[in-house]
Amino acid sequence: MEPNCRMAIVGGGLAGLAAANALKTFGIAAEVFEAAPALGEIGAAVNASPQAVKALRAIGLGEKVAAVGHLSPGIYTCNMQTGEFLEFNDRHKAAARFGAPYYTFHRADLLDALAGGLDHSTIHLGHRLTGIEERTDRVVLAFDNGARVEAEHVIAADGVRSVIRQALYGSDNPTYTGQMVWRSLLNGSDVPEEVMGPMGHMQWAGPGCHFIAYYIRQKKQVNIVTQEDTDKWVEEGWSTRGDPDEMRLSFPNPEPRLKQLLSLVTTCSKWGLFTRPLTRNWGRGRIQLVGDAAHAMLPNAGQGACQAFEDAYILGRWLDACRDPVKAFANFRRVRIPRVHGVQRLSLANARFKHMRDAAAQRQSVSSGQGSFHGSSDWVWGYDPVSEWDKEPAVPTAYAA
Ligand SMILES: Cc1cc2nc3c(=O)[nH]c(=O)nc-3n(C[C@H](O)[C@H](O)[C@H](O)COP(=O)(O)OP(=O)(O)OC[C@H]3O[C@@H](n4cnc5c(N)ncnc54)[C@H](O)[C@@H]3O)c2cc1C
Repeated sequence: MEPNCRMAIVGGGLAGLAAANALKTFGIAAEVFEAAPALGEIGAAVNASPQAVKALRAIGLGEKVAAVGHLSPGIYTCNMQTGEFLEFNDRHKAAARFGAPYYTFHRADLLDALAGGLDHSTIHLGHRLTGIEERTDRVVLAFDNGARVEAEHVIAADGVRSVIRQALYGSDNPTYTGQMVWRSLLNGSDVPEEVMGPMGHMQWAGPGCHFIAYYIRQKKQVNIVTQEDTDKWVEEGWSTRGDPDEMRLSFPNPEPRLKQLLSLVTTCSKWGLFTRPLTRNWGRGRIQLVGDAAHAMLPNAGQGACQAFEDAYILGRWLDACRDPVKAFANFRRVRIPRVHGVQRLSLANARFKHMRDAAAQRQSVSSGQGSFHGSSDWVWGYDPVSEWDKEPAVPTAYAA
């Protein structure tokens, strides 16, 4: 019997829907299986840096994401207690240099834009994968609603706690980093403009913590995301309800603007940051992992979703170039693993610098050019997925089409 699906994508989050758009761009039919009963995203923000915007444009989503993206002029970093200016990271200049904008999105708007590019009859909601069986000529997927799908090939985009990754490789032993995050969304009209600084995108750096606030949805909302060193153990999920008073106590003696912003928080959530060892366990044979399922990373470089968008384009190109998807998957891993490992290392290094305990040392480090509150991101943002793929040498024999 023939398998009833050629390419199955498990997970309809940012990575899965981006992959579906990429395959569509290259004329490859795919079906998406998503656990949730409706496509949706948590109420929070996500950023896309220039190279990720290039990937989104290359899979036909340029106009859709431009319509819902907010163009941040840049991040203005101050000392958390004194309000002293420390650094300005000019994103308009970066956009001009790298040839694509830097957008901030409400996550739900971005997901809608990705879904808007697809035929909704190919997205199967309410399908939570519970089991996977690899056979020589197909992969059998079992879902909690009783459905069984036989697919020729599978793209696993089922997120940080991927069922498929665990089925292939067992537990990946996440380790608590000793850092936690608070997250909140405020109405833009409730926040005095002067609190948001000259650029509408503020970062306060303090000993062992930082606090970021920026406009999204054309200033209709302010997204707050923080990070602090702590031995408090909180869950890895993104939606554990937090206590606003506890959040305020996490940032003692804040300068007046930050104090005012904190006073406006009425709801918040919190989660713990976990790391996983860098791994080459990104799939095998007929199964390819993408997005957080393959390479979950700390949020300190703002690159988790961006790397998923690069994944989508590069995977689409290889599937288009190789007749055999198994070879396309092998090429995808050959090209993507070294780059993504570099980005994962950068997000670890950024966390160390932002949380320097000594403000004077931090200032000295910035002014001498040794460190930045944004890490050295040129090699990440300056990458062009399209021209880099075009430069791929003749495919090594083992990977040939
Ligand atoms: C605080 C924070 C801030 C961030 N900021 C940024 C940023 O500014 N820029 C950036 O690039 N990245 C950022 N990221 C990272 C980014 O959000 C993730 O890397 C991205 O969401 C990964 O997409 P994904 O589709 O792989 O996983 P997810 O978004 O988690 O999607 C996985 C999907 O799979 C579905 N699913 C799960 N299990 C199953 C199953 N068994 N069967 C079927 N479906 C299943 C889920 O319902 C979900 O829809 C941030 C992350 C955090 C935590």
